[in-house]
Amino acid sequence: MRHVVLGAGPAGLAALASIRRADPSARITLVSGEPGPPYARMALPYYLSGELSGRLLYPHPASWYRSPGVELRFGDPAEELDLPRREVLLAGGDRLRFDRLLIATGSRPQLREAPGIHLPQVHTLWTLADARRLRRKAAGAQEVVIWGAGMVAFLAAKALLAPGRRVHFVCRAEHLLRRALDREAAALLEQVLEEAGAVLHRGVNLAEIRPGPGKRCRVLLTDGRELPSDLVLVALGVLPNLDWLGDAPLARRQGLLVDGSLETSASGVFAAGDVAEVPDCITGEPVVPALWSVAVDQGRVAGLNMAGHRLSCDPALRANTIVFHRYVVATLGCPLLQDGTVVHRQLDRARRTYRCLVLSRGRLVGAILAGDVTAAGYLRTLLRRGVRVADPDEVWEAVP
Ligand SMILES: Cc1cc2nc3c(=O)[nH]c(=O)nc-3n(C[C@H](O)[C@H](O)[C@H](O)COP(=O)(O)OP(=O)(O)OC[C@H]3O[C@@H](n4cnc5c(N)ncnc54)[C@H](O)[C@@H]3O)c2cc1C
Repeated sequence: MRHVVLGAGPAGLAALASIRRADPSARITLVSGEPGPPYARMALPYYLSGELSGRLLYPHPASWYRSPGVELRFGDPAEELDLPRREVLLAGGDRLRFDRLLIATGSRPQLREAPGIHLPQVHTLWTLADARRLRRKAAGAQEVVIWGAGMVAFLAAKALLAPGRRVHFVCRAEHLLRRALDREAAALLEQVLEEAGAVLHRGVNLAEIRPGPGKRCRVLLTDGRELPSDLVLVALGVLPNLDWLGDAPLARRQGLLVDGSLETSASGVFAAGDVAEVPDCITGEPVVPALWSVAVDQGRVAGLNMAGHRLSCDPALRANTIVFHRYVVATLGCPLLQDGTVVHRQLDRARRTYRCLVLSRGRLVGAILAGDVTAAGYLRTLLRRGVRVADPDEVWEAVP
């Protein structure tokens, strides 16, 4: 059986490991759009801050990839899918025939056109090449502007905040991480960030970036203010990497549509990770979770199914933990659901702790914890099982 795995992120690598284990005689070609050995994207902020050396960015040593039947094609991205011929065309001109194909080409930063967006001071943080460039440019930078206020914006700020350097957030919403946190939890996290030198510009957008003076640029905001900046980081969300598929007949909306086994609308073609649209564990609605743990789970299941198993992947439970200067915030499930929900909040400003349970028709659908996340594992289990909660106090009393 000839397998082609497109993408060497967590989804592609988990699939490679599964196929090898399930079918040692399989022929597998692992293709990555980027040159060099696969690295962990999630670790890039720690590389940027200098906490992690380059070597620790790599999830596997070179020997892990060397095995009979495995061929590596790094730095040669897929450009076309020819479904009738069951072939993938690579940028270098080669055609790879497959019996089973995994599309795990991940996502890329969403860019927005704005005057000055192509100035040399403007960057993104998505690839190792981005992180290397940013690390060089950040040395000596005193004023950094981050356009965006989502997870990557927060992680970049965490990496770039340092004594003698100010990091400004240009945040269109009224608070940071508005897709993950409610106002109360965000306020606690923002307080810790501000104490570390972050400046939040809420409810305002970036209008233009102008060159100068000297090596700096000036970021103009929609309310007329101007921020001098050595470095501008654009972190406005991500988009699944599907453009290369052109008009290949694969059903898609935001991501590729897959069934429970992660097979797309084309037989023998699977999708996993940031390109796949899957049901949310809580709402059942299709989502692209864009989370590391989900990519690994999906890659593992897709790989086993490519090798002949017939397994179903669990619906995605969205959960994330955010740590800043030892302050921890956890968000689980869908705590921002509006319709028919009852929210139980407990806020202790003095201790900077907050916990919130969100119930819908008596069932736990989401939770946020800030300052103390010891209940996160327990809540995760309740969410996964769709447990009914009669009295929120009983949940807190049951926390181990
Ligand atoms: C800075 C940063 C921090 C993050 N932190 C967290 C976190 O704390 N927690 C969390 O859950 N998630 C985090 N994420 C998100 C997480 O990294 C992604 O959800 C995860 O990497 C998705 O895995 P994937 O395998 O689907 O795709 P990716 O990891 O994006 O890998 C895609 C692979 O496909 C390759 N590729 C792209 N196009 C092509 C093509 N045309 N042909 C062949 N190969 C191609 C790429 O080169 C790459 O090898 C973070 C992301 C970033 C950028």
